[in-house]
Amino acid sequence: MISIVIPAYNEEENIPVLYEKLKKVLDSLGKDYEIIFVDDGSEDRTPEVLKEIAEKDKKVKVIRFRRNYGQTAAMYAGFEHARGDVIITMDADLQNDPEDIPRLLEKVEEGYDIVSGWRKDRKDPFLSRKLPSKIANWIISKVTGVELHDYGCTLKAYRAEIAKRYRLYGDMHRFLPALAKRFGARITEIPVRHHPRLYGRSKYGIGRTVRVILDIFLVKFLNEYITKPLYVFGGAGFFLFLAGFLIELYLTLLKLFTGADIGDRPLLILGVLLILAGIQLISTGVIAELIIRTYYESRGEKPYVIEEKINVED
Ligand code: UDP
Ligand code: MG
Repeated sequence: MISIVIPAYNEEENIPVLYEKLKKVLDSLGKDYEIIFVDDGSEDRTPEVLKEIAEKDKKVKVIRFRRNYGQTAAMYAGFEHARGDVIITMDADLQNDPEDIPRLLEKVEEGYDIVSGWRKDRKDPFLSRKLPSKIANWIISKVTGVELHDYGCTLKAYRAEIAKRYRLYGDMHRFLPALAKRFGARITEIPVRHHPRLYGRSKYGIGRTVRVILDIFLVKFLNEYITKPLYVFGGAGFFLFLAGFLIELYLTLLKLFTGADIGDRPLLILGVLLILAGIQLISTGVIAELIIRTYYESRGEKPYVIEEKINVED
């Protein structure tokens, strides 16, 4: 079974057209499917439009948020309610093309866990959209080691257990491929079509770039250090402490052997600062370790994922 998850915020004109196109493509697949629209607190007629469609077509499911929580929260809610083995996400604004869905599914059948769309010929403004996105994609690829041309493309297919594994906060939905790498997910991308927005307005501006860059740090941390935060904080703290210690040692020896005045030297203060910062960072690392342990215990989660067991009984 296939679940299509579509976050929608003020997309009243787009939804009926999208629904018709989707239905045509999905019916031709000959598989069971459901279309989950998540209305993210729209202020236009989106809820009414969705209700009308859902009344006629039981395959269409609607989740309505009380207020606007953002695209990531909407996708997360969609994942939680999806019953398919494969989940496909797409935008409600007709910029993604339902006709690309069969090709995404082909790749999933080949054995990939995540198939990401790549808007090779993207129909958005260059300066405010395409350029920042190009830079961001390059940085994310380098930092996470998951090389994709287009993290921002919502049209993606996930094996359900991968999509459901993560709790998504903030703007993190775009990083699912990078996060899933930690579980050894097989990831690929295919070029997909992209259309200019005909109705409604884009919900994002240039401010998104800053959030994306901050998220890159978070993903790096989550992927590589979540089970060993002491190494990150403690490692940095250790070097600061060492530098401070050496500075103070030098000044002490200077005082002892030459009797020079060290009381008004900036180096003295720098040394003290480094020692204090070092101690603080190491203690932060220890506290982070405790928090991480509580995190795993409370979620009953293991720090590993098993692909297969042979002759092993649970
Ligand atoms: N969206 C949402 N909640 C929001 C912002 C956006 O559900 O707070 C939906 C929106 O309706 C669309 C998708 O997320 O289906 C992508 O938004 P948009 O087209 O504005 O982004 P862009 O394509 O301009 O990057
Ligand atoms: Mg759009």
